[in-house]
Amino acid sequence: MVFQDPFSSLNPRMSVSDLIKESFDIHKVYKKEKDRDERVSEIMEVVGLSPRLVNSYPHELDGGRRQRVGIARAIALNPKCIVLDEPVSALDVSVQAQILNLLDRLQDEFKLTYLFIAHDLSVVKHVSDRIAVMYVGKMVELTDYKTIFKEPLHPYSRALISAIPTPNLKKKEERIILEGDVPSPINPGPGCRFYPRCRDRIDPVCKETEPEMREVKPGHFVACHRE
Ligand code: SF4
Repeated sequence: MVFQDPFSSLNPRMSVSDLIKESFDIHKVYKKEKDRDERVSEIMEVVGLSPRLVNSYPHELDGGRRQRVGIARAIALNPKCIVLDEPVSALDVSVQAQILNLLDRLQDEFKLTYLFIAHDLSVVKHVSDRIAVMYVGKMVELTDYKTIFKEPLHPYSRALISAIPTPNLKKKEERIILEGDVPSPINPGPGCRFYPRCRDRIDPVCKETEPEMREVKPGHFVACHRE
């Protein structure tokens, strides 16, 4: 797992070396310290951390390097899948690009599957093969990354995509402004969670019945009574 804020997710009392080797020690991966320390050096190189930082502490690193330590910890035990929870949202834009490129390279190199959680749609578009749109804790649409941007079917997905700024002055697309309240995730009520804000709602079915996720086209799933 890679967390959103690398500053609060790394133990401030542990050095870079300690942070990376912690998982080796917990899982008793190496019998000899020398082998373990060599592997720490290898992983630091893979994620682009200079060997001189091996004894540094999180507060001595900038945001990008801290997140590289978080990524190093995540790949240390050769996982098949990594959950990345908003891994670049706490970073400067220039550093975001570096971390995304690193994640891209590691995915190819180690044949990794990422579950990438994000709010920034430009980041989502850059990293994803398939995209699931969530609303108040429930998945409302799932399809491949091209289709979701070209042909979003759920009204919430359409509103999200309409909010992406376009650099083309001639191509003026309507921005969908959402009004209405967001229901409580603890007790969202019986109908569709998007009902109070949906311009396409159908009464009374949308208010009374929660829509099921259905495959409306091959590989394209939507939870909406309109589809
Ligand atoms: S189920 Fe109804 S309220 Fe919910 S998104 Fe679809 S049309 Fe809108």
